Amino acid sequence: MSDSRPSHAPIHAPSNVFPVVDDCLQIGGVALSQLAQRVGQTPFYAYDRQAMTERVAALRTALPEGISVHYAVKANPMPAVVQHMAGLVDGLDVASGRELRVALDAGIPAGEISFAGPGKSLNELAMAVGAGITLNIESETELERVAEISAQTGEMAHVAVRVNPDFELKTSGMKMSGGPKAFGVDAERVPALLKRIGELGLHFRGFHIFSGSQNLRSEALIEAQGQTFDLALRLAESAPGPVEMLNMGGGFGIPYFPGETPLDLAPITAHLESRLPAVREQLPRAEIILELGRYLVGEAGIYVAEVIDRKESRGQIFLITNGGLHHHLAASGNFGQVIRKNYPVVVGNRMQGDERELVNVVGPLCTPLDVLAQQMELARAEVGDLIVVFQSGAYGYTASPTRFLSHPEPVEILV
Ligand SMILES: *Cc1c(COP(=O)(O)O)cnc(C)c1O
Repeated sequence: MSDSRPSHAPIHAPSNVFPVVDDCLQIGGVALSQLAQRVGQTPFYAYDRQAMTERVAALRTALPEGISVHYAVKANPMPAVVQHMAGLVDGLDVASGRELRVALDAGIPAGEISFAGPGKSLNELAMAVGAGITLNIESETELERVAEISAQTGEMAHVAVRVNPDFELKTSGMKMSGGPKAFGVDAERVPALLKRIGELGLHFRGFHIFSGSQNLRSEALIEAQGQTFDLALRLAESAPGPVEMLNMGGGFGIPYFPGETPLDLAPITAHLESRLPAVREQLPRAEIILELGRYLVGEAGIYVAEVIDRKESRGQIFLITNGGLHHHLAASGNFGQVIRKNYPVVVGNRMQGDERELVNVVGPLCTPLDVLAQQMELARAEVGDLIVVFQSGAYGYTASPTRFLSHPEPVEILV
């Protein structure tokens, strides 16, 4: 049969990541049914290292020369994934002490790791200072704590200021800036904080200005990036030392739902190219960083559950699987979606099938929220077939309430 996905398959994404051979999805060159045997259990998450490698390479080709790419570990903190990503990107951004340990284990230099997040514990701050990584300071209180740890241990603290900008990233899946926010220090309070960093004699690294997530509109990203440059240049005038890094966040989205199209990088690159010469002139020592999670790994992962039962209820078909929201909250629609939409779901071992039908794919939990696909057209599936959720490489397992209802945890593999 064909070695590519049939064009009439009802799959809108990710169109070219995983090939189909003999109607079976392939991942890492292995047929899904074989992979399931190799894993030894369902449900599981499988991540494709080649897909990640290609994604980073394509991004680097598209971006202007000299823009650094960092991986936001929280998107997928599986140690093997972080290790693989560490070899591809210019730095890792972590959001907890545990993520920091995973990043340090990946063996990249401390200068290429940064730690952001409100409410870092004293323990986490001490770990970060001890490891010599860059701390993105989220409040005045946090700065004083860091200074105290530095004074007590004699270790120099390397600090950047996480800024809560006075603008927002429009039409973002998740807004993280503008207005009152828990993240970062309000832009108007930053000059005073910069002065204090100077007084405390800490090593000033630069700025972290992150304004949102999951955005597919290049115009919105361009607007936010332009405002980020303006703000950074303005704040740099009050800096206690040269700006060594400007982390512009990311916000690059991936398509999940029908009608969504992949982000167009060309206009973003054109805009960056138009702004970079002046930015580089004014901040000659600054590494310009894009910090991305989902965009780098989201399309490289699938979640696989097995059909345990097939039921009919009042005219609708229910495929009941051993996987669900406890493993994949995002696909169930309960991770920040306002109106529930189906993630791209297929029957991985019968991609096209002989017969197709409208079904509901649900999990084993005793809650109507445990839905993987609602009234979706799939190949007719039987008990034992493998349901695949695409776009599961980011915010899948890591963002799920695995303890809910005490079912077994999924396995994760990197192929
Ligand atoms: C979550 C987060 C990211 C990654 O966001 P993605 O949408 O996965 O790219 C980057 N930076 C910060 C500060 C974050 O909190």
